[in-house]
This record gives sequence, C-alpha cells and structure tokens, in this order.
Amino acid sequence: MDNRTKETIRYLGYGNHAVDSTTIAMISDSFRNLESVANCKSIYRIFDLHETDENYYKIGTVHLESRNLSKNLKGCHRVVLFGATLGAEVDRLLTRKALMSMAEVVVLQAAAAAMLEEYCDECQEEIRVSLEREGEYIRPRFSPGYGDFDIHYQRPLMQMLDCAKKIGLTMTDSFMMSPTKSVTALIGVSSTQENCHKKGCEVCGKKDCIYRRDTV
Ligand code: SF4
Repeated sequence: MDNRTKETIRYLGYGNHAVDSTTIAMISDSFRNLESVANCKSIYRIFDLHETDENYYKIGTVHLESRNLSKNLKGCHRVVLFGATLGAEVDRLLTRKALMSMAEVVVLQAAAAAMLEEYCDECQEEIRVSLEREGEYIRPRFSPGYGDFDIHYQRPLMQMLDCAKKIGLTMTDSFMMSPTKSVTALIGVSSTQENCHKKGCEVCGKKDCIYRRDTV
C-alpha cells in the first residue's frame, strides 16, 4: 500500500481497523479522478526573521505572536513563507461528487487532503535541498490555525506571497481558502542542522530536541 493511500485511510479515521476492499477501490478511484483535474501550484519566498520579544516576531511588515510557533522557530534567522494549492477543479470535482454519492465524497475529501500533504512534502523537499546547498537547514512547516498560531495570520502571509496573482489562491472573510484544498505555512531556516522529520516534531523520534514544538 502506498503512502498516500495509508494517509487517506488515516484521515478517514480507520485507526487500526481493517479497511474493506470497497473503500480501497474508492480511494484509488479518488486518486485517479484527482490526478486528472488537479493543477498543483506553489510559491515560496524567504524573509529575514526578527524576534522582537518573547513569542513575538516580525517578518517583513507583519508582526506575529505565537508560543508554539516561537518554539518551532527557535534558532532560526530566516523563514520561508510557503503557499500551495491543488487548484479550483478539485473543488468542482468535490461538488459534483457530493451530488452523486456522500460515501464517495467523504473518501475523495480525504484523498485530496492526502494529495495536498504529499505535494507540500515534495515542495518542502525541493526547498530543503536548495537551502542545504547554502549551508542552511529547515525546520518542519507550521501553518496558521495550528496550536496557538492564529488562523487570521493566513491573510498577511497570503498577501506577502501575492498568492492570488501567483497561484490563484484567495481567502473569504471567514478565513476559508479558495480553492479549499490549499495551504499556507512558515518554515524556519537555521544554520543548525537537526535533520528534521518531514512530518513534523509530532512524529519525530528526537524527543530531547531543544527545538521541539508543542501544540497543546
Ligand atoms: S523534534 Fe525533530 S522535527 Fe522537531 S525540530 Fe527537533 S529535529 Fe526537527
């Protein structure tokens, strides 16, 4: 079973329960359908990171406050702002499916989330390789809405990345992204190598890492 299928099953909340063959078939159909309509786009820009006070940062003209983010960015002097989307056609596919079968749309939603995560991981890997050539190392990505990092920060991050123009990503007044299968994140850049886990501190084995973030 490939990783994206495993992730989809995890998003569907199966836990350790066995997955039936009908669901597995629906997952592979979902990926086939998603592959045919997705238009994955991403953008990133690197900014200097200024720590103005404990748990307070300034990036460009934006001021951020978050204890969880602060732990994640400890020892970082720059930060990558990152945005990615699967594109508007994925939303149209989800709407069409919702009219046909609720069971299928639930699986499709989970598969789209897994696909977005996989795409973000690939983009992050490219950023990692490019920065390591300069002797710089990245920390796991951290998105608004995670821990105490307020979802409202999505708006200035998207503006700094010019997401609307560059990748067609906008946000409603209620902080919903459009297209919905999209993400923004910060990725700390440090001169200290930690070989961070791609999936973040929560699944990383380095329990005594001083940069380890907590989100509770
Ligand atoms: S706990 Fe792991 S993923 Fe988190 S900062 Fe440390 S090395 Fe990186």
